[in-house]
Amino acid sequence: MSDQFRAIVVDSVADVAGTGPRQRGTLRTLDQDFLTAGSDEHPAAITLESGVALDVEYSGVNYKDGLAVAGRPGVVRRTPLIAGIDVVGTVRSSPDARWAAGERVVLNGAGLGEGLHGGLSERALVSPHSLVRLPSAISARRAAAIGTAGFTAMLSLMALEKQGIGPRSGEILVTGAAGGVGSVAIMLLARAGYSVTAASGRAESEGDYLRELGASSVIDRAELSEPGRPMQSTRWAGAIDSVGGTILANVIAQTGYGGSVTSCGLAAGVELPSTVLPFILRGVNLLGVNSVDAPLALREAAWMRLAAETRFELLDELSTEIGLAAVPEAAEAILAGTVRGRTVVNVR
Ligand code: NDP
Repeated sequence: MSDQFRAIVVDSVADVAGTGPRQRGTLRTLDQDFLTAGSDEHPAAITLESGVALDVEYSGVNYKDGLAVAGRPGVVRRTPLIAGIDVVGTVRSSPDARWAAGERVVLNGAGLGEGLHGGLSERALVSPHSLVRLPSAISARRAAAIGTAGFTAMLSLMALEKQGIGPRSGEILVTGAAGGVGSVAIMLLARAGYSVTAASGRAESEGDYLRELGASSVIDRAELSEPGRPMQSTRWAGAIDSVGGTILANVIAQTGYGGSVTSCGLAAGVELPSTVLPFILRGVNLLGVNSVDAPLALREAAWMRLAAETRFELLDELSTEIGLAAVPEAAEAILAGTVRGRTVVNVR
């Protein structure tokens, strides 16, 4: 491995005024040893002896990638670091007998783009322990269109099912509906036979899109944005929430007896201004969803289901393809809440 490759690299930047971002992601051309170089403070976590080398085909821009590339704090834990929490590609070489050259693989989270070099790159060197063989039904582009957002939507659906929620339980609410997690969640729930209400800040402009994905009703998220009583009239048997904050508190307050609400995101805030009342008086379950550290068996199960249950023609419609050079602009757009569905990155 001696040739150079291109990647989106998050670097520390001097902030003279002390007010701007301390990090910034830009497109750079790198030497192969960038993937294995460490420092005294951050020794290389993955070496040529331990890592599976990949020729990357596609990555994506998730909300977290937006934060990282735009230099917002909390995602990138060391610099310089290749961004990208998703990677889809082909094994180039592997010291681990589980993987052979030419196999198609996908990896979501597992530290990529946070503490480990990520997938917004033509080359990657990844740990073999969380890698998933790409089911043959899914192309590399479609796997990236699913990405962490779609993987998390499936984990959320599986979490609801584990609590006994099914299509006959009643209405399911999806918040952050026009975003990545929300769009895929609506598509998966509707295909499984659930009646889905989509809550969106873009109910008017994206209403047709959300109905096309399978939502039977679309509501304005403003309905859920004002602080409310901890117990309200029940509307939902379950919910998939990716926004947190006051919206999540209201969703919990409107969930019926024995209902379940998944929580994976914080697009609206990290607070949860609620009380214990919905839990102790209605037996509501709040289910945390973490895709980053999901164990391998759960990753494989979720990807098998994504292969079987994704409506690929809809997935193609809800995804937009860009190249590596357009990633910084896409990062700003996802933080501004103007991106619809998923952004896939063709790294070639
Ligand atoms: P997107 O930006 O694609 O979607 C987020 C959506 O949330 C937006 O499209 C918008 O939907 C809504 N939204 C944005 N800002 C606000 C706001 N201020 N108030 C209320 N709603 C808002 O992001 P992703 O789908 O990729 O991720 C969503 C969240 O889930 C992020 O916080 C992300 O970090 C988290 N996440 C967590 C994972 C985990 O493992 N725990 C994995 C994946 C994502 P609309 O316009 O329809 O209202």
